[in-house]
This record gives sequence, structure tokens and C-alpha cells, in this order.
Amino acid sequence: MDRYLIESLHTDKECRQAVKAVYAMGYLNNFDWGCKVGVHKGWVIIEADSESEAVLVVPPFLRSRAMAVKLVKFEPEQVNAMHET
Ligand SMILES: [Zn+2]
Repeated sequence: MDRYLIESLHTDKECRQAVKAVYAMGYLNNFDWGCKVGVHKGWVIIEADSESEAVLVVPPFLRSRAMAVKLVKFEPEQVNAMHET
């Protein structure tokens, strides 16, 4: 399985609905939110087999606006092997 960072956007008006939907889906503990500082986004890092599977963590009404980024970690050897261009 790969790790994905999910970014889910909602509007100020959708805030309550978004948080409640995440709670109802059982993912409240997994999400971090920017809402209290006016950034109406939720973030979560999850393990999944694909991008399309990863976005299933987002409530259906917000899914089309969600972004999934496959994450990698670099090892020191890989950094050292990077060529300057
Ligand atoms: Zn919000």
C-alpha cells in the first residue's frame, strides 16, 4: 500500500456539514483542519492502493474537490544521487 495526503476543501458555509460528515464516516480522529484560522480545508494521510481509493475518506459531496497526493520518503543515498542541473 502507498501513503496518500488528502486535501479536502469546503466553503465557510459548508464547514459544519463537512465536519459532521467526516465524523459520521468515522474519520474524525484522522483529519486535521484549518477552519479555526479561516482555511476551510481538511487534511489526512492514509494508506491506500490507489488515488481513487484514497479519496474515499472524503465525504461524497466534497470528493470532486479533493486532491490526493501519493507520498514518498527519500533515503540519504537517493538525495546524494540527485544530480545538480
Ligand atoms: Zn471549515
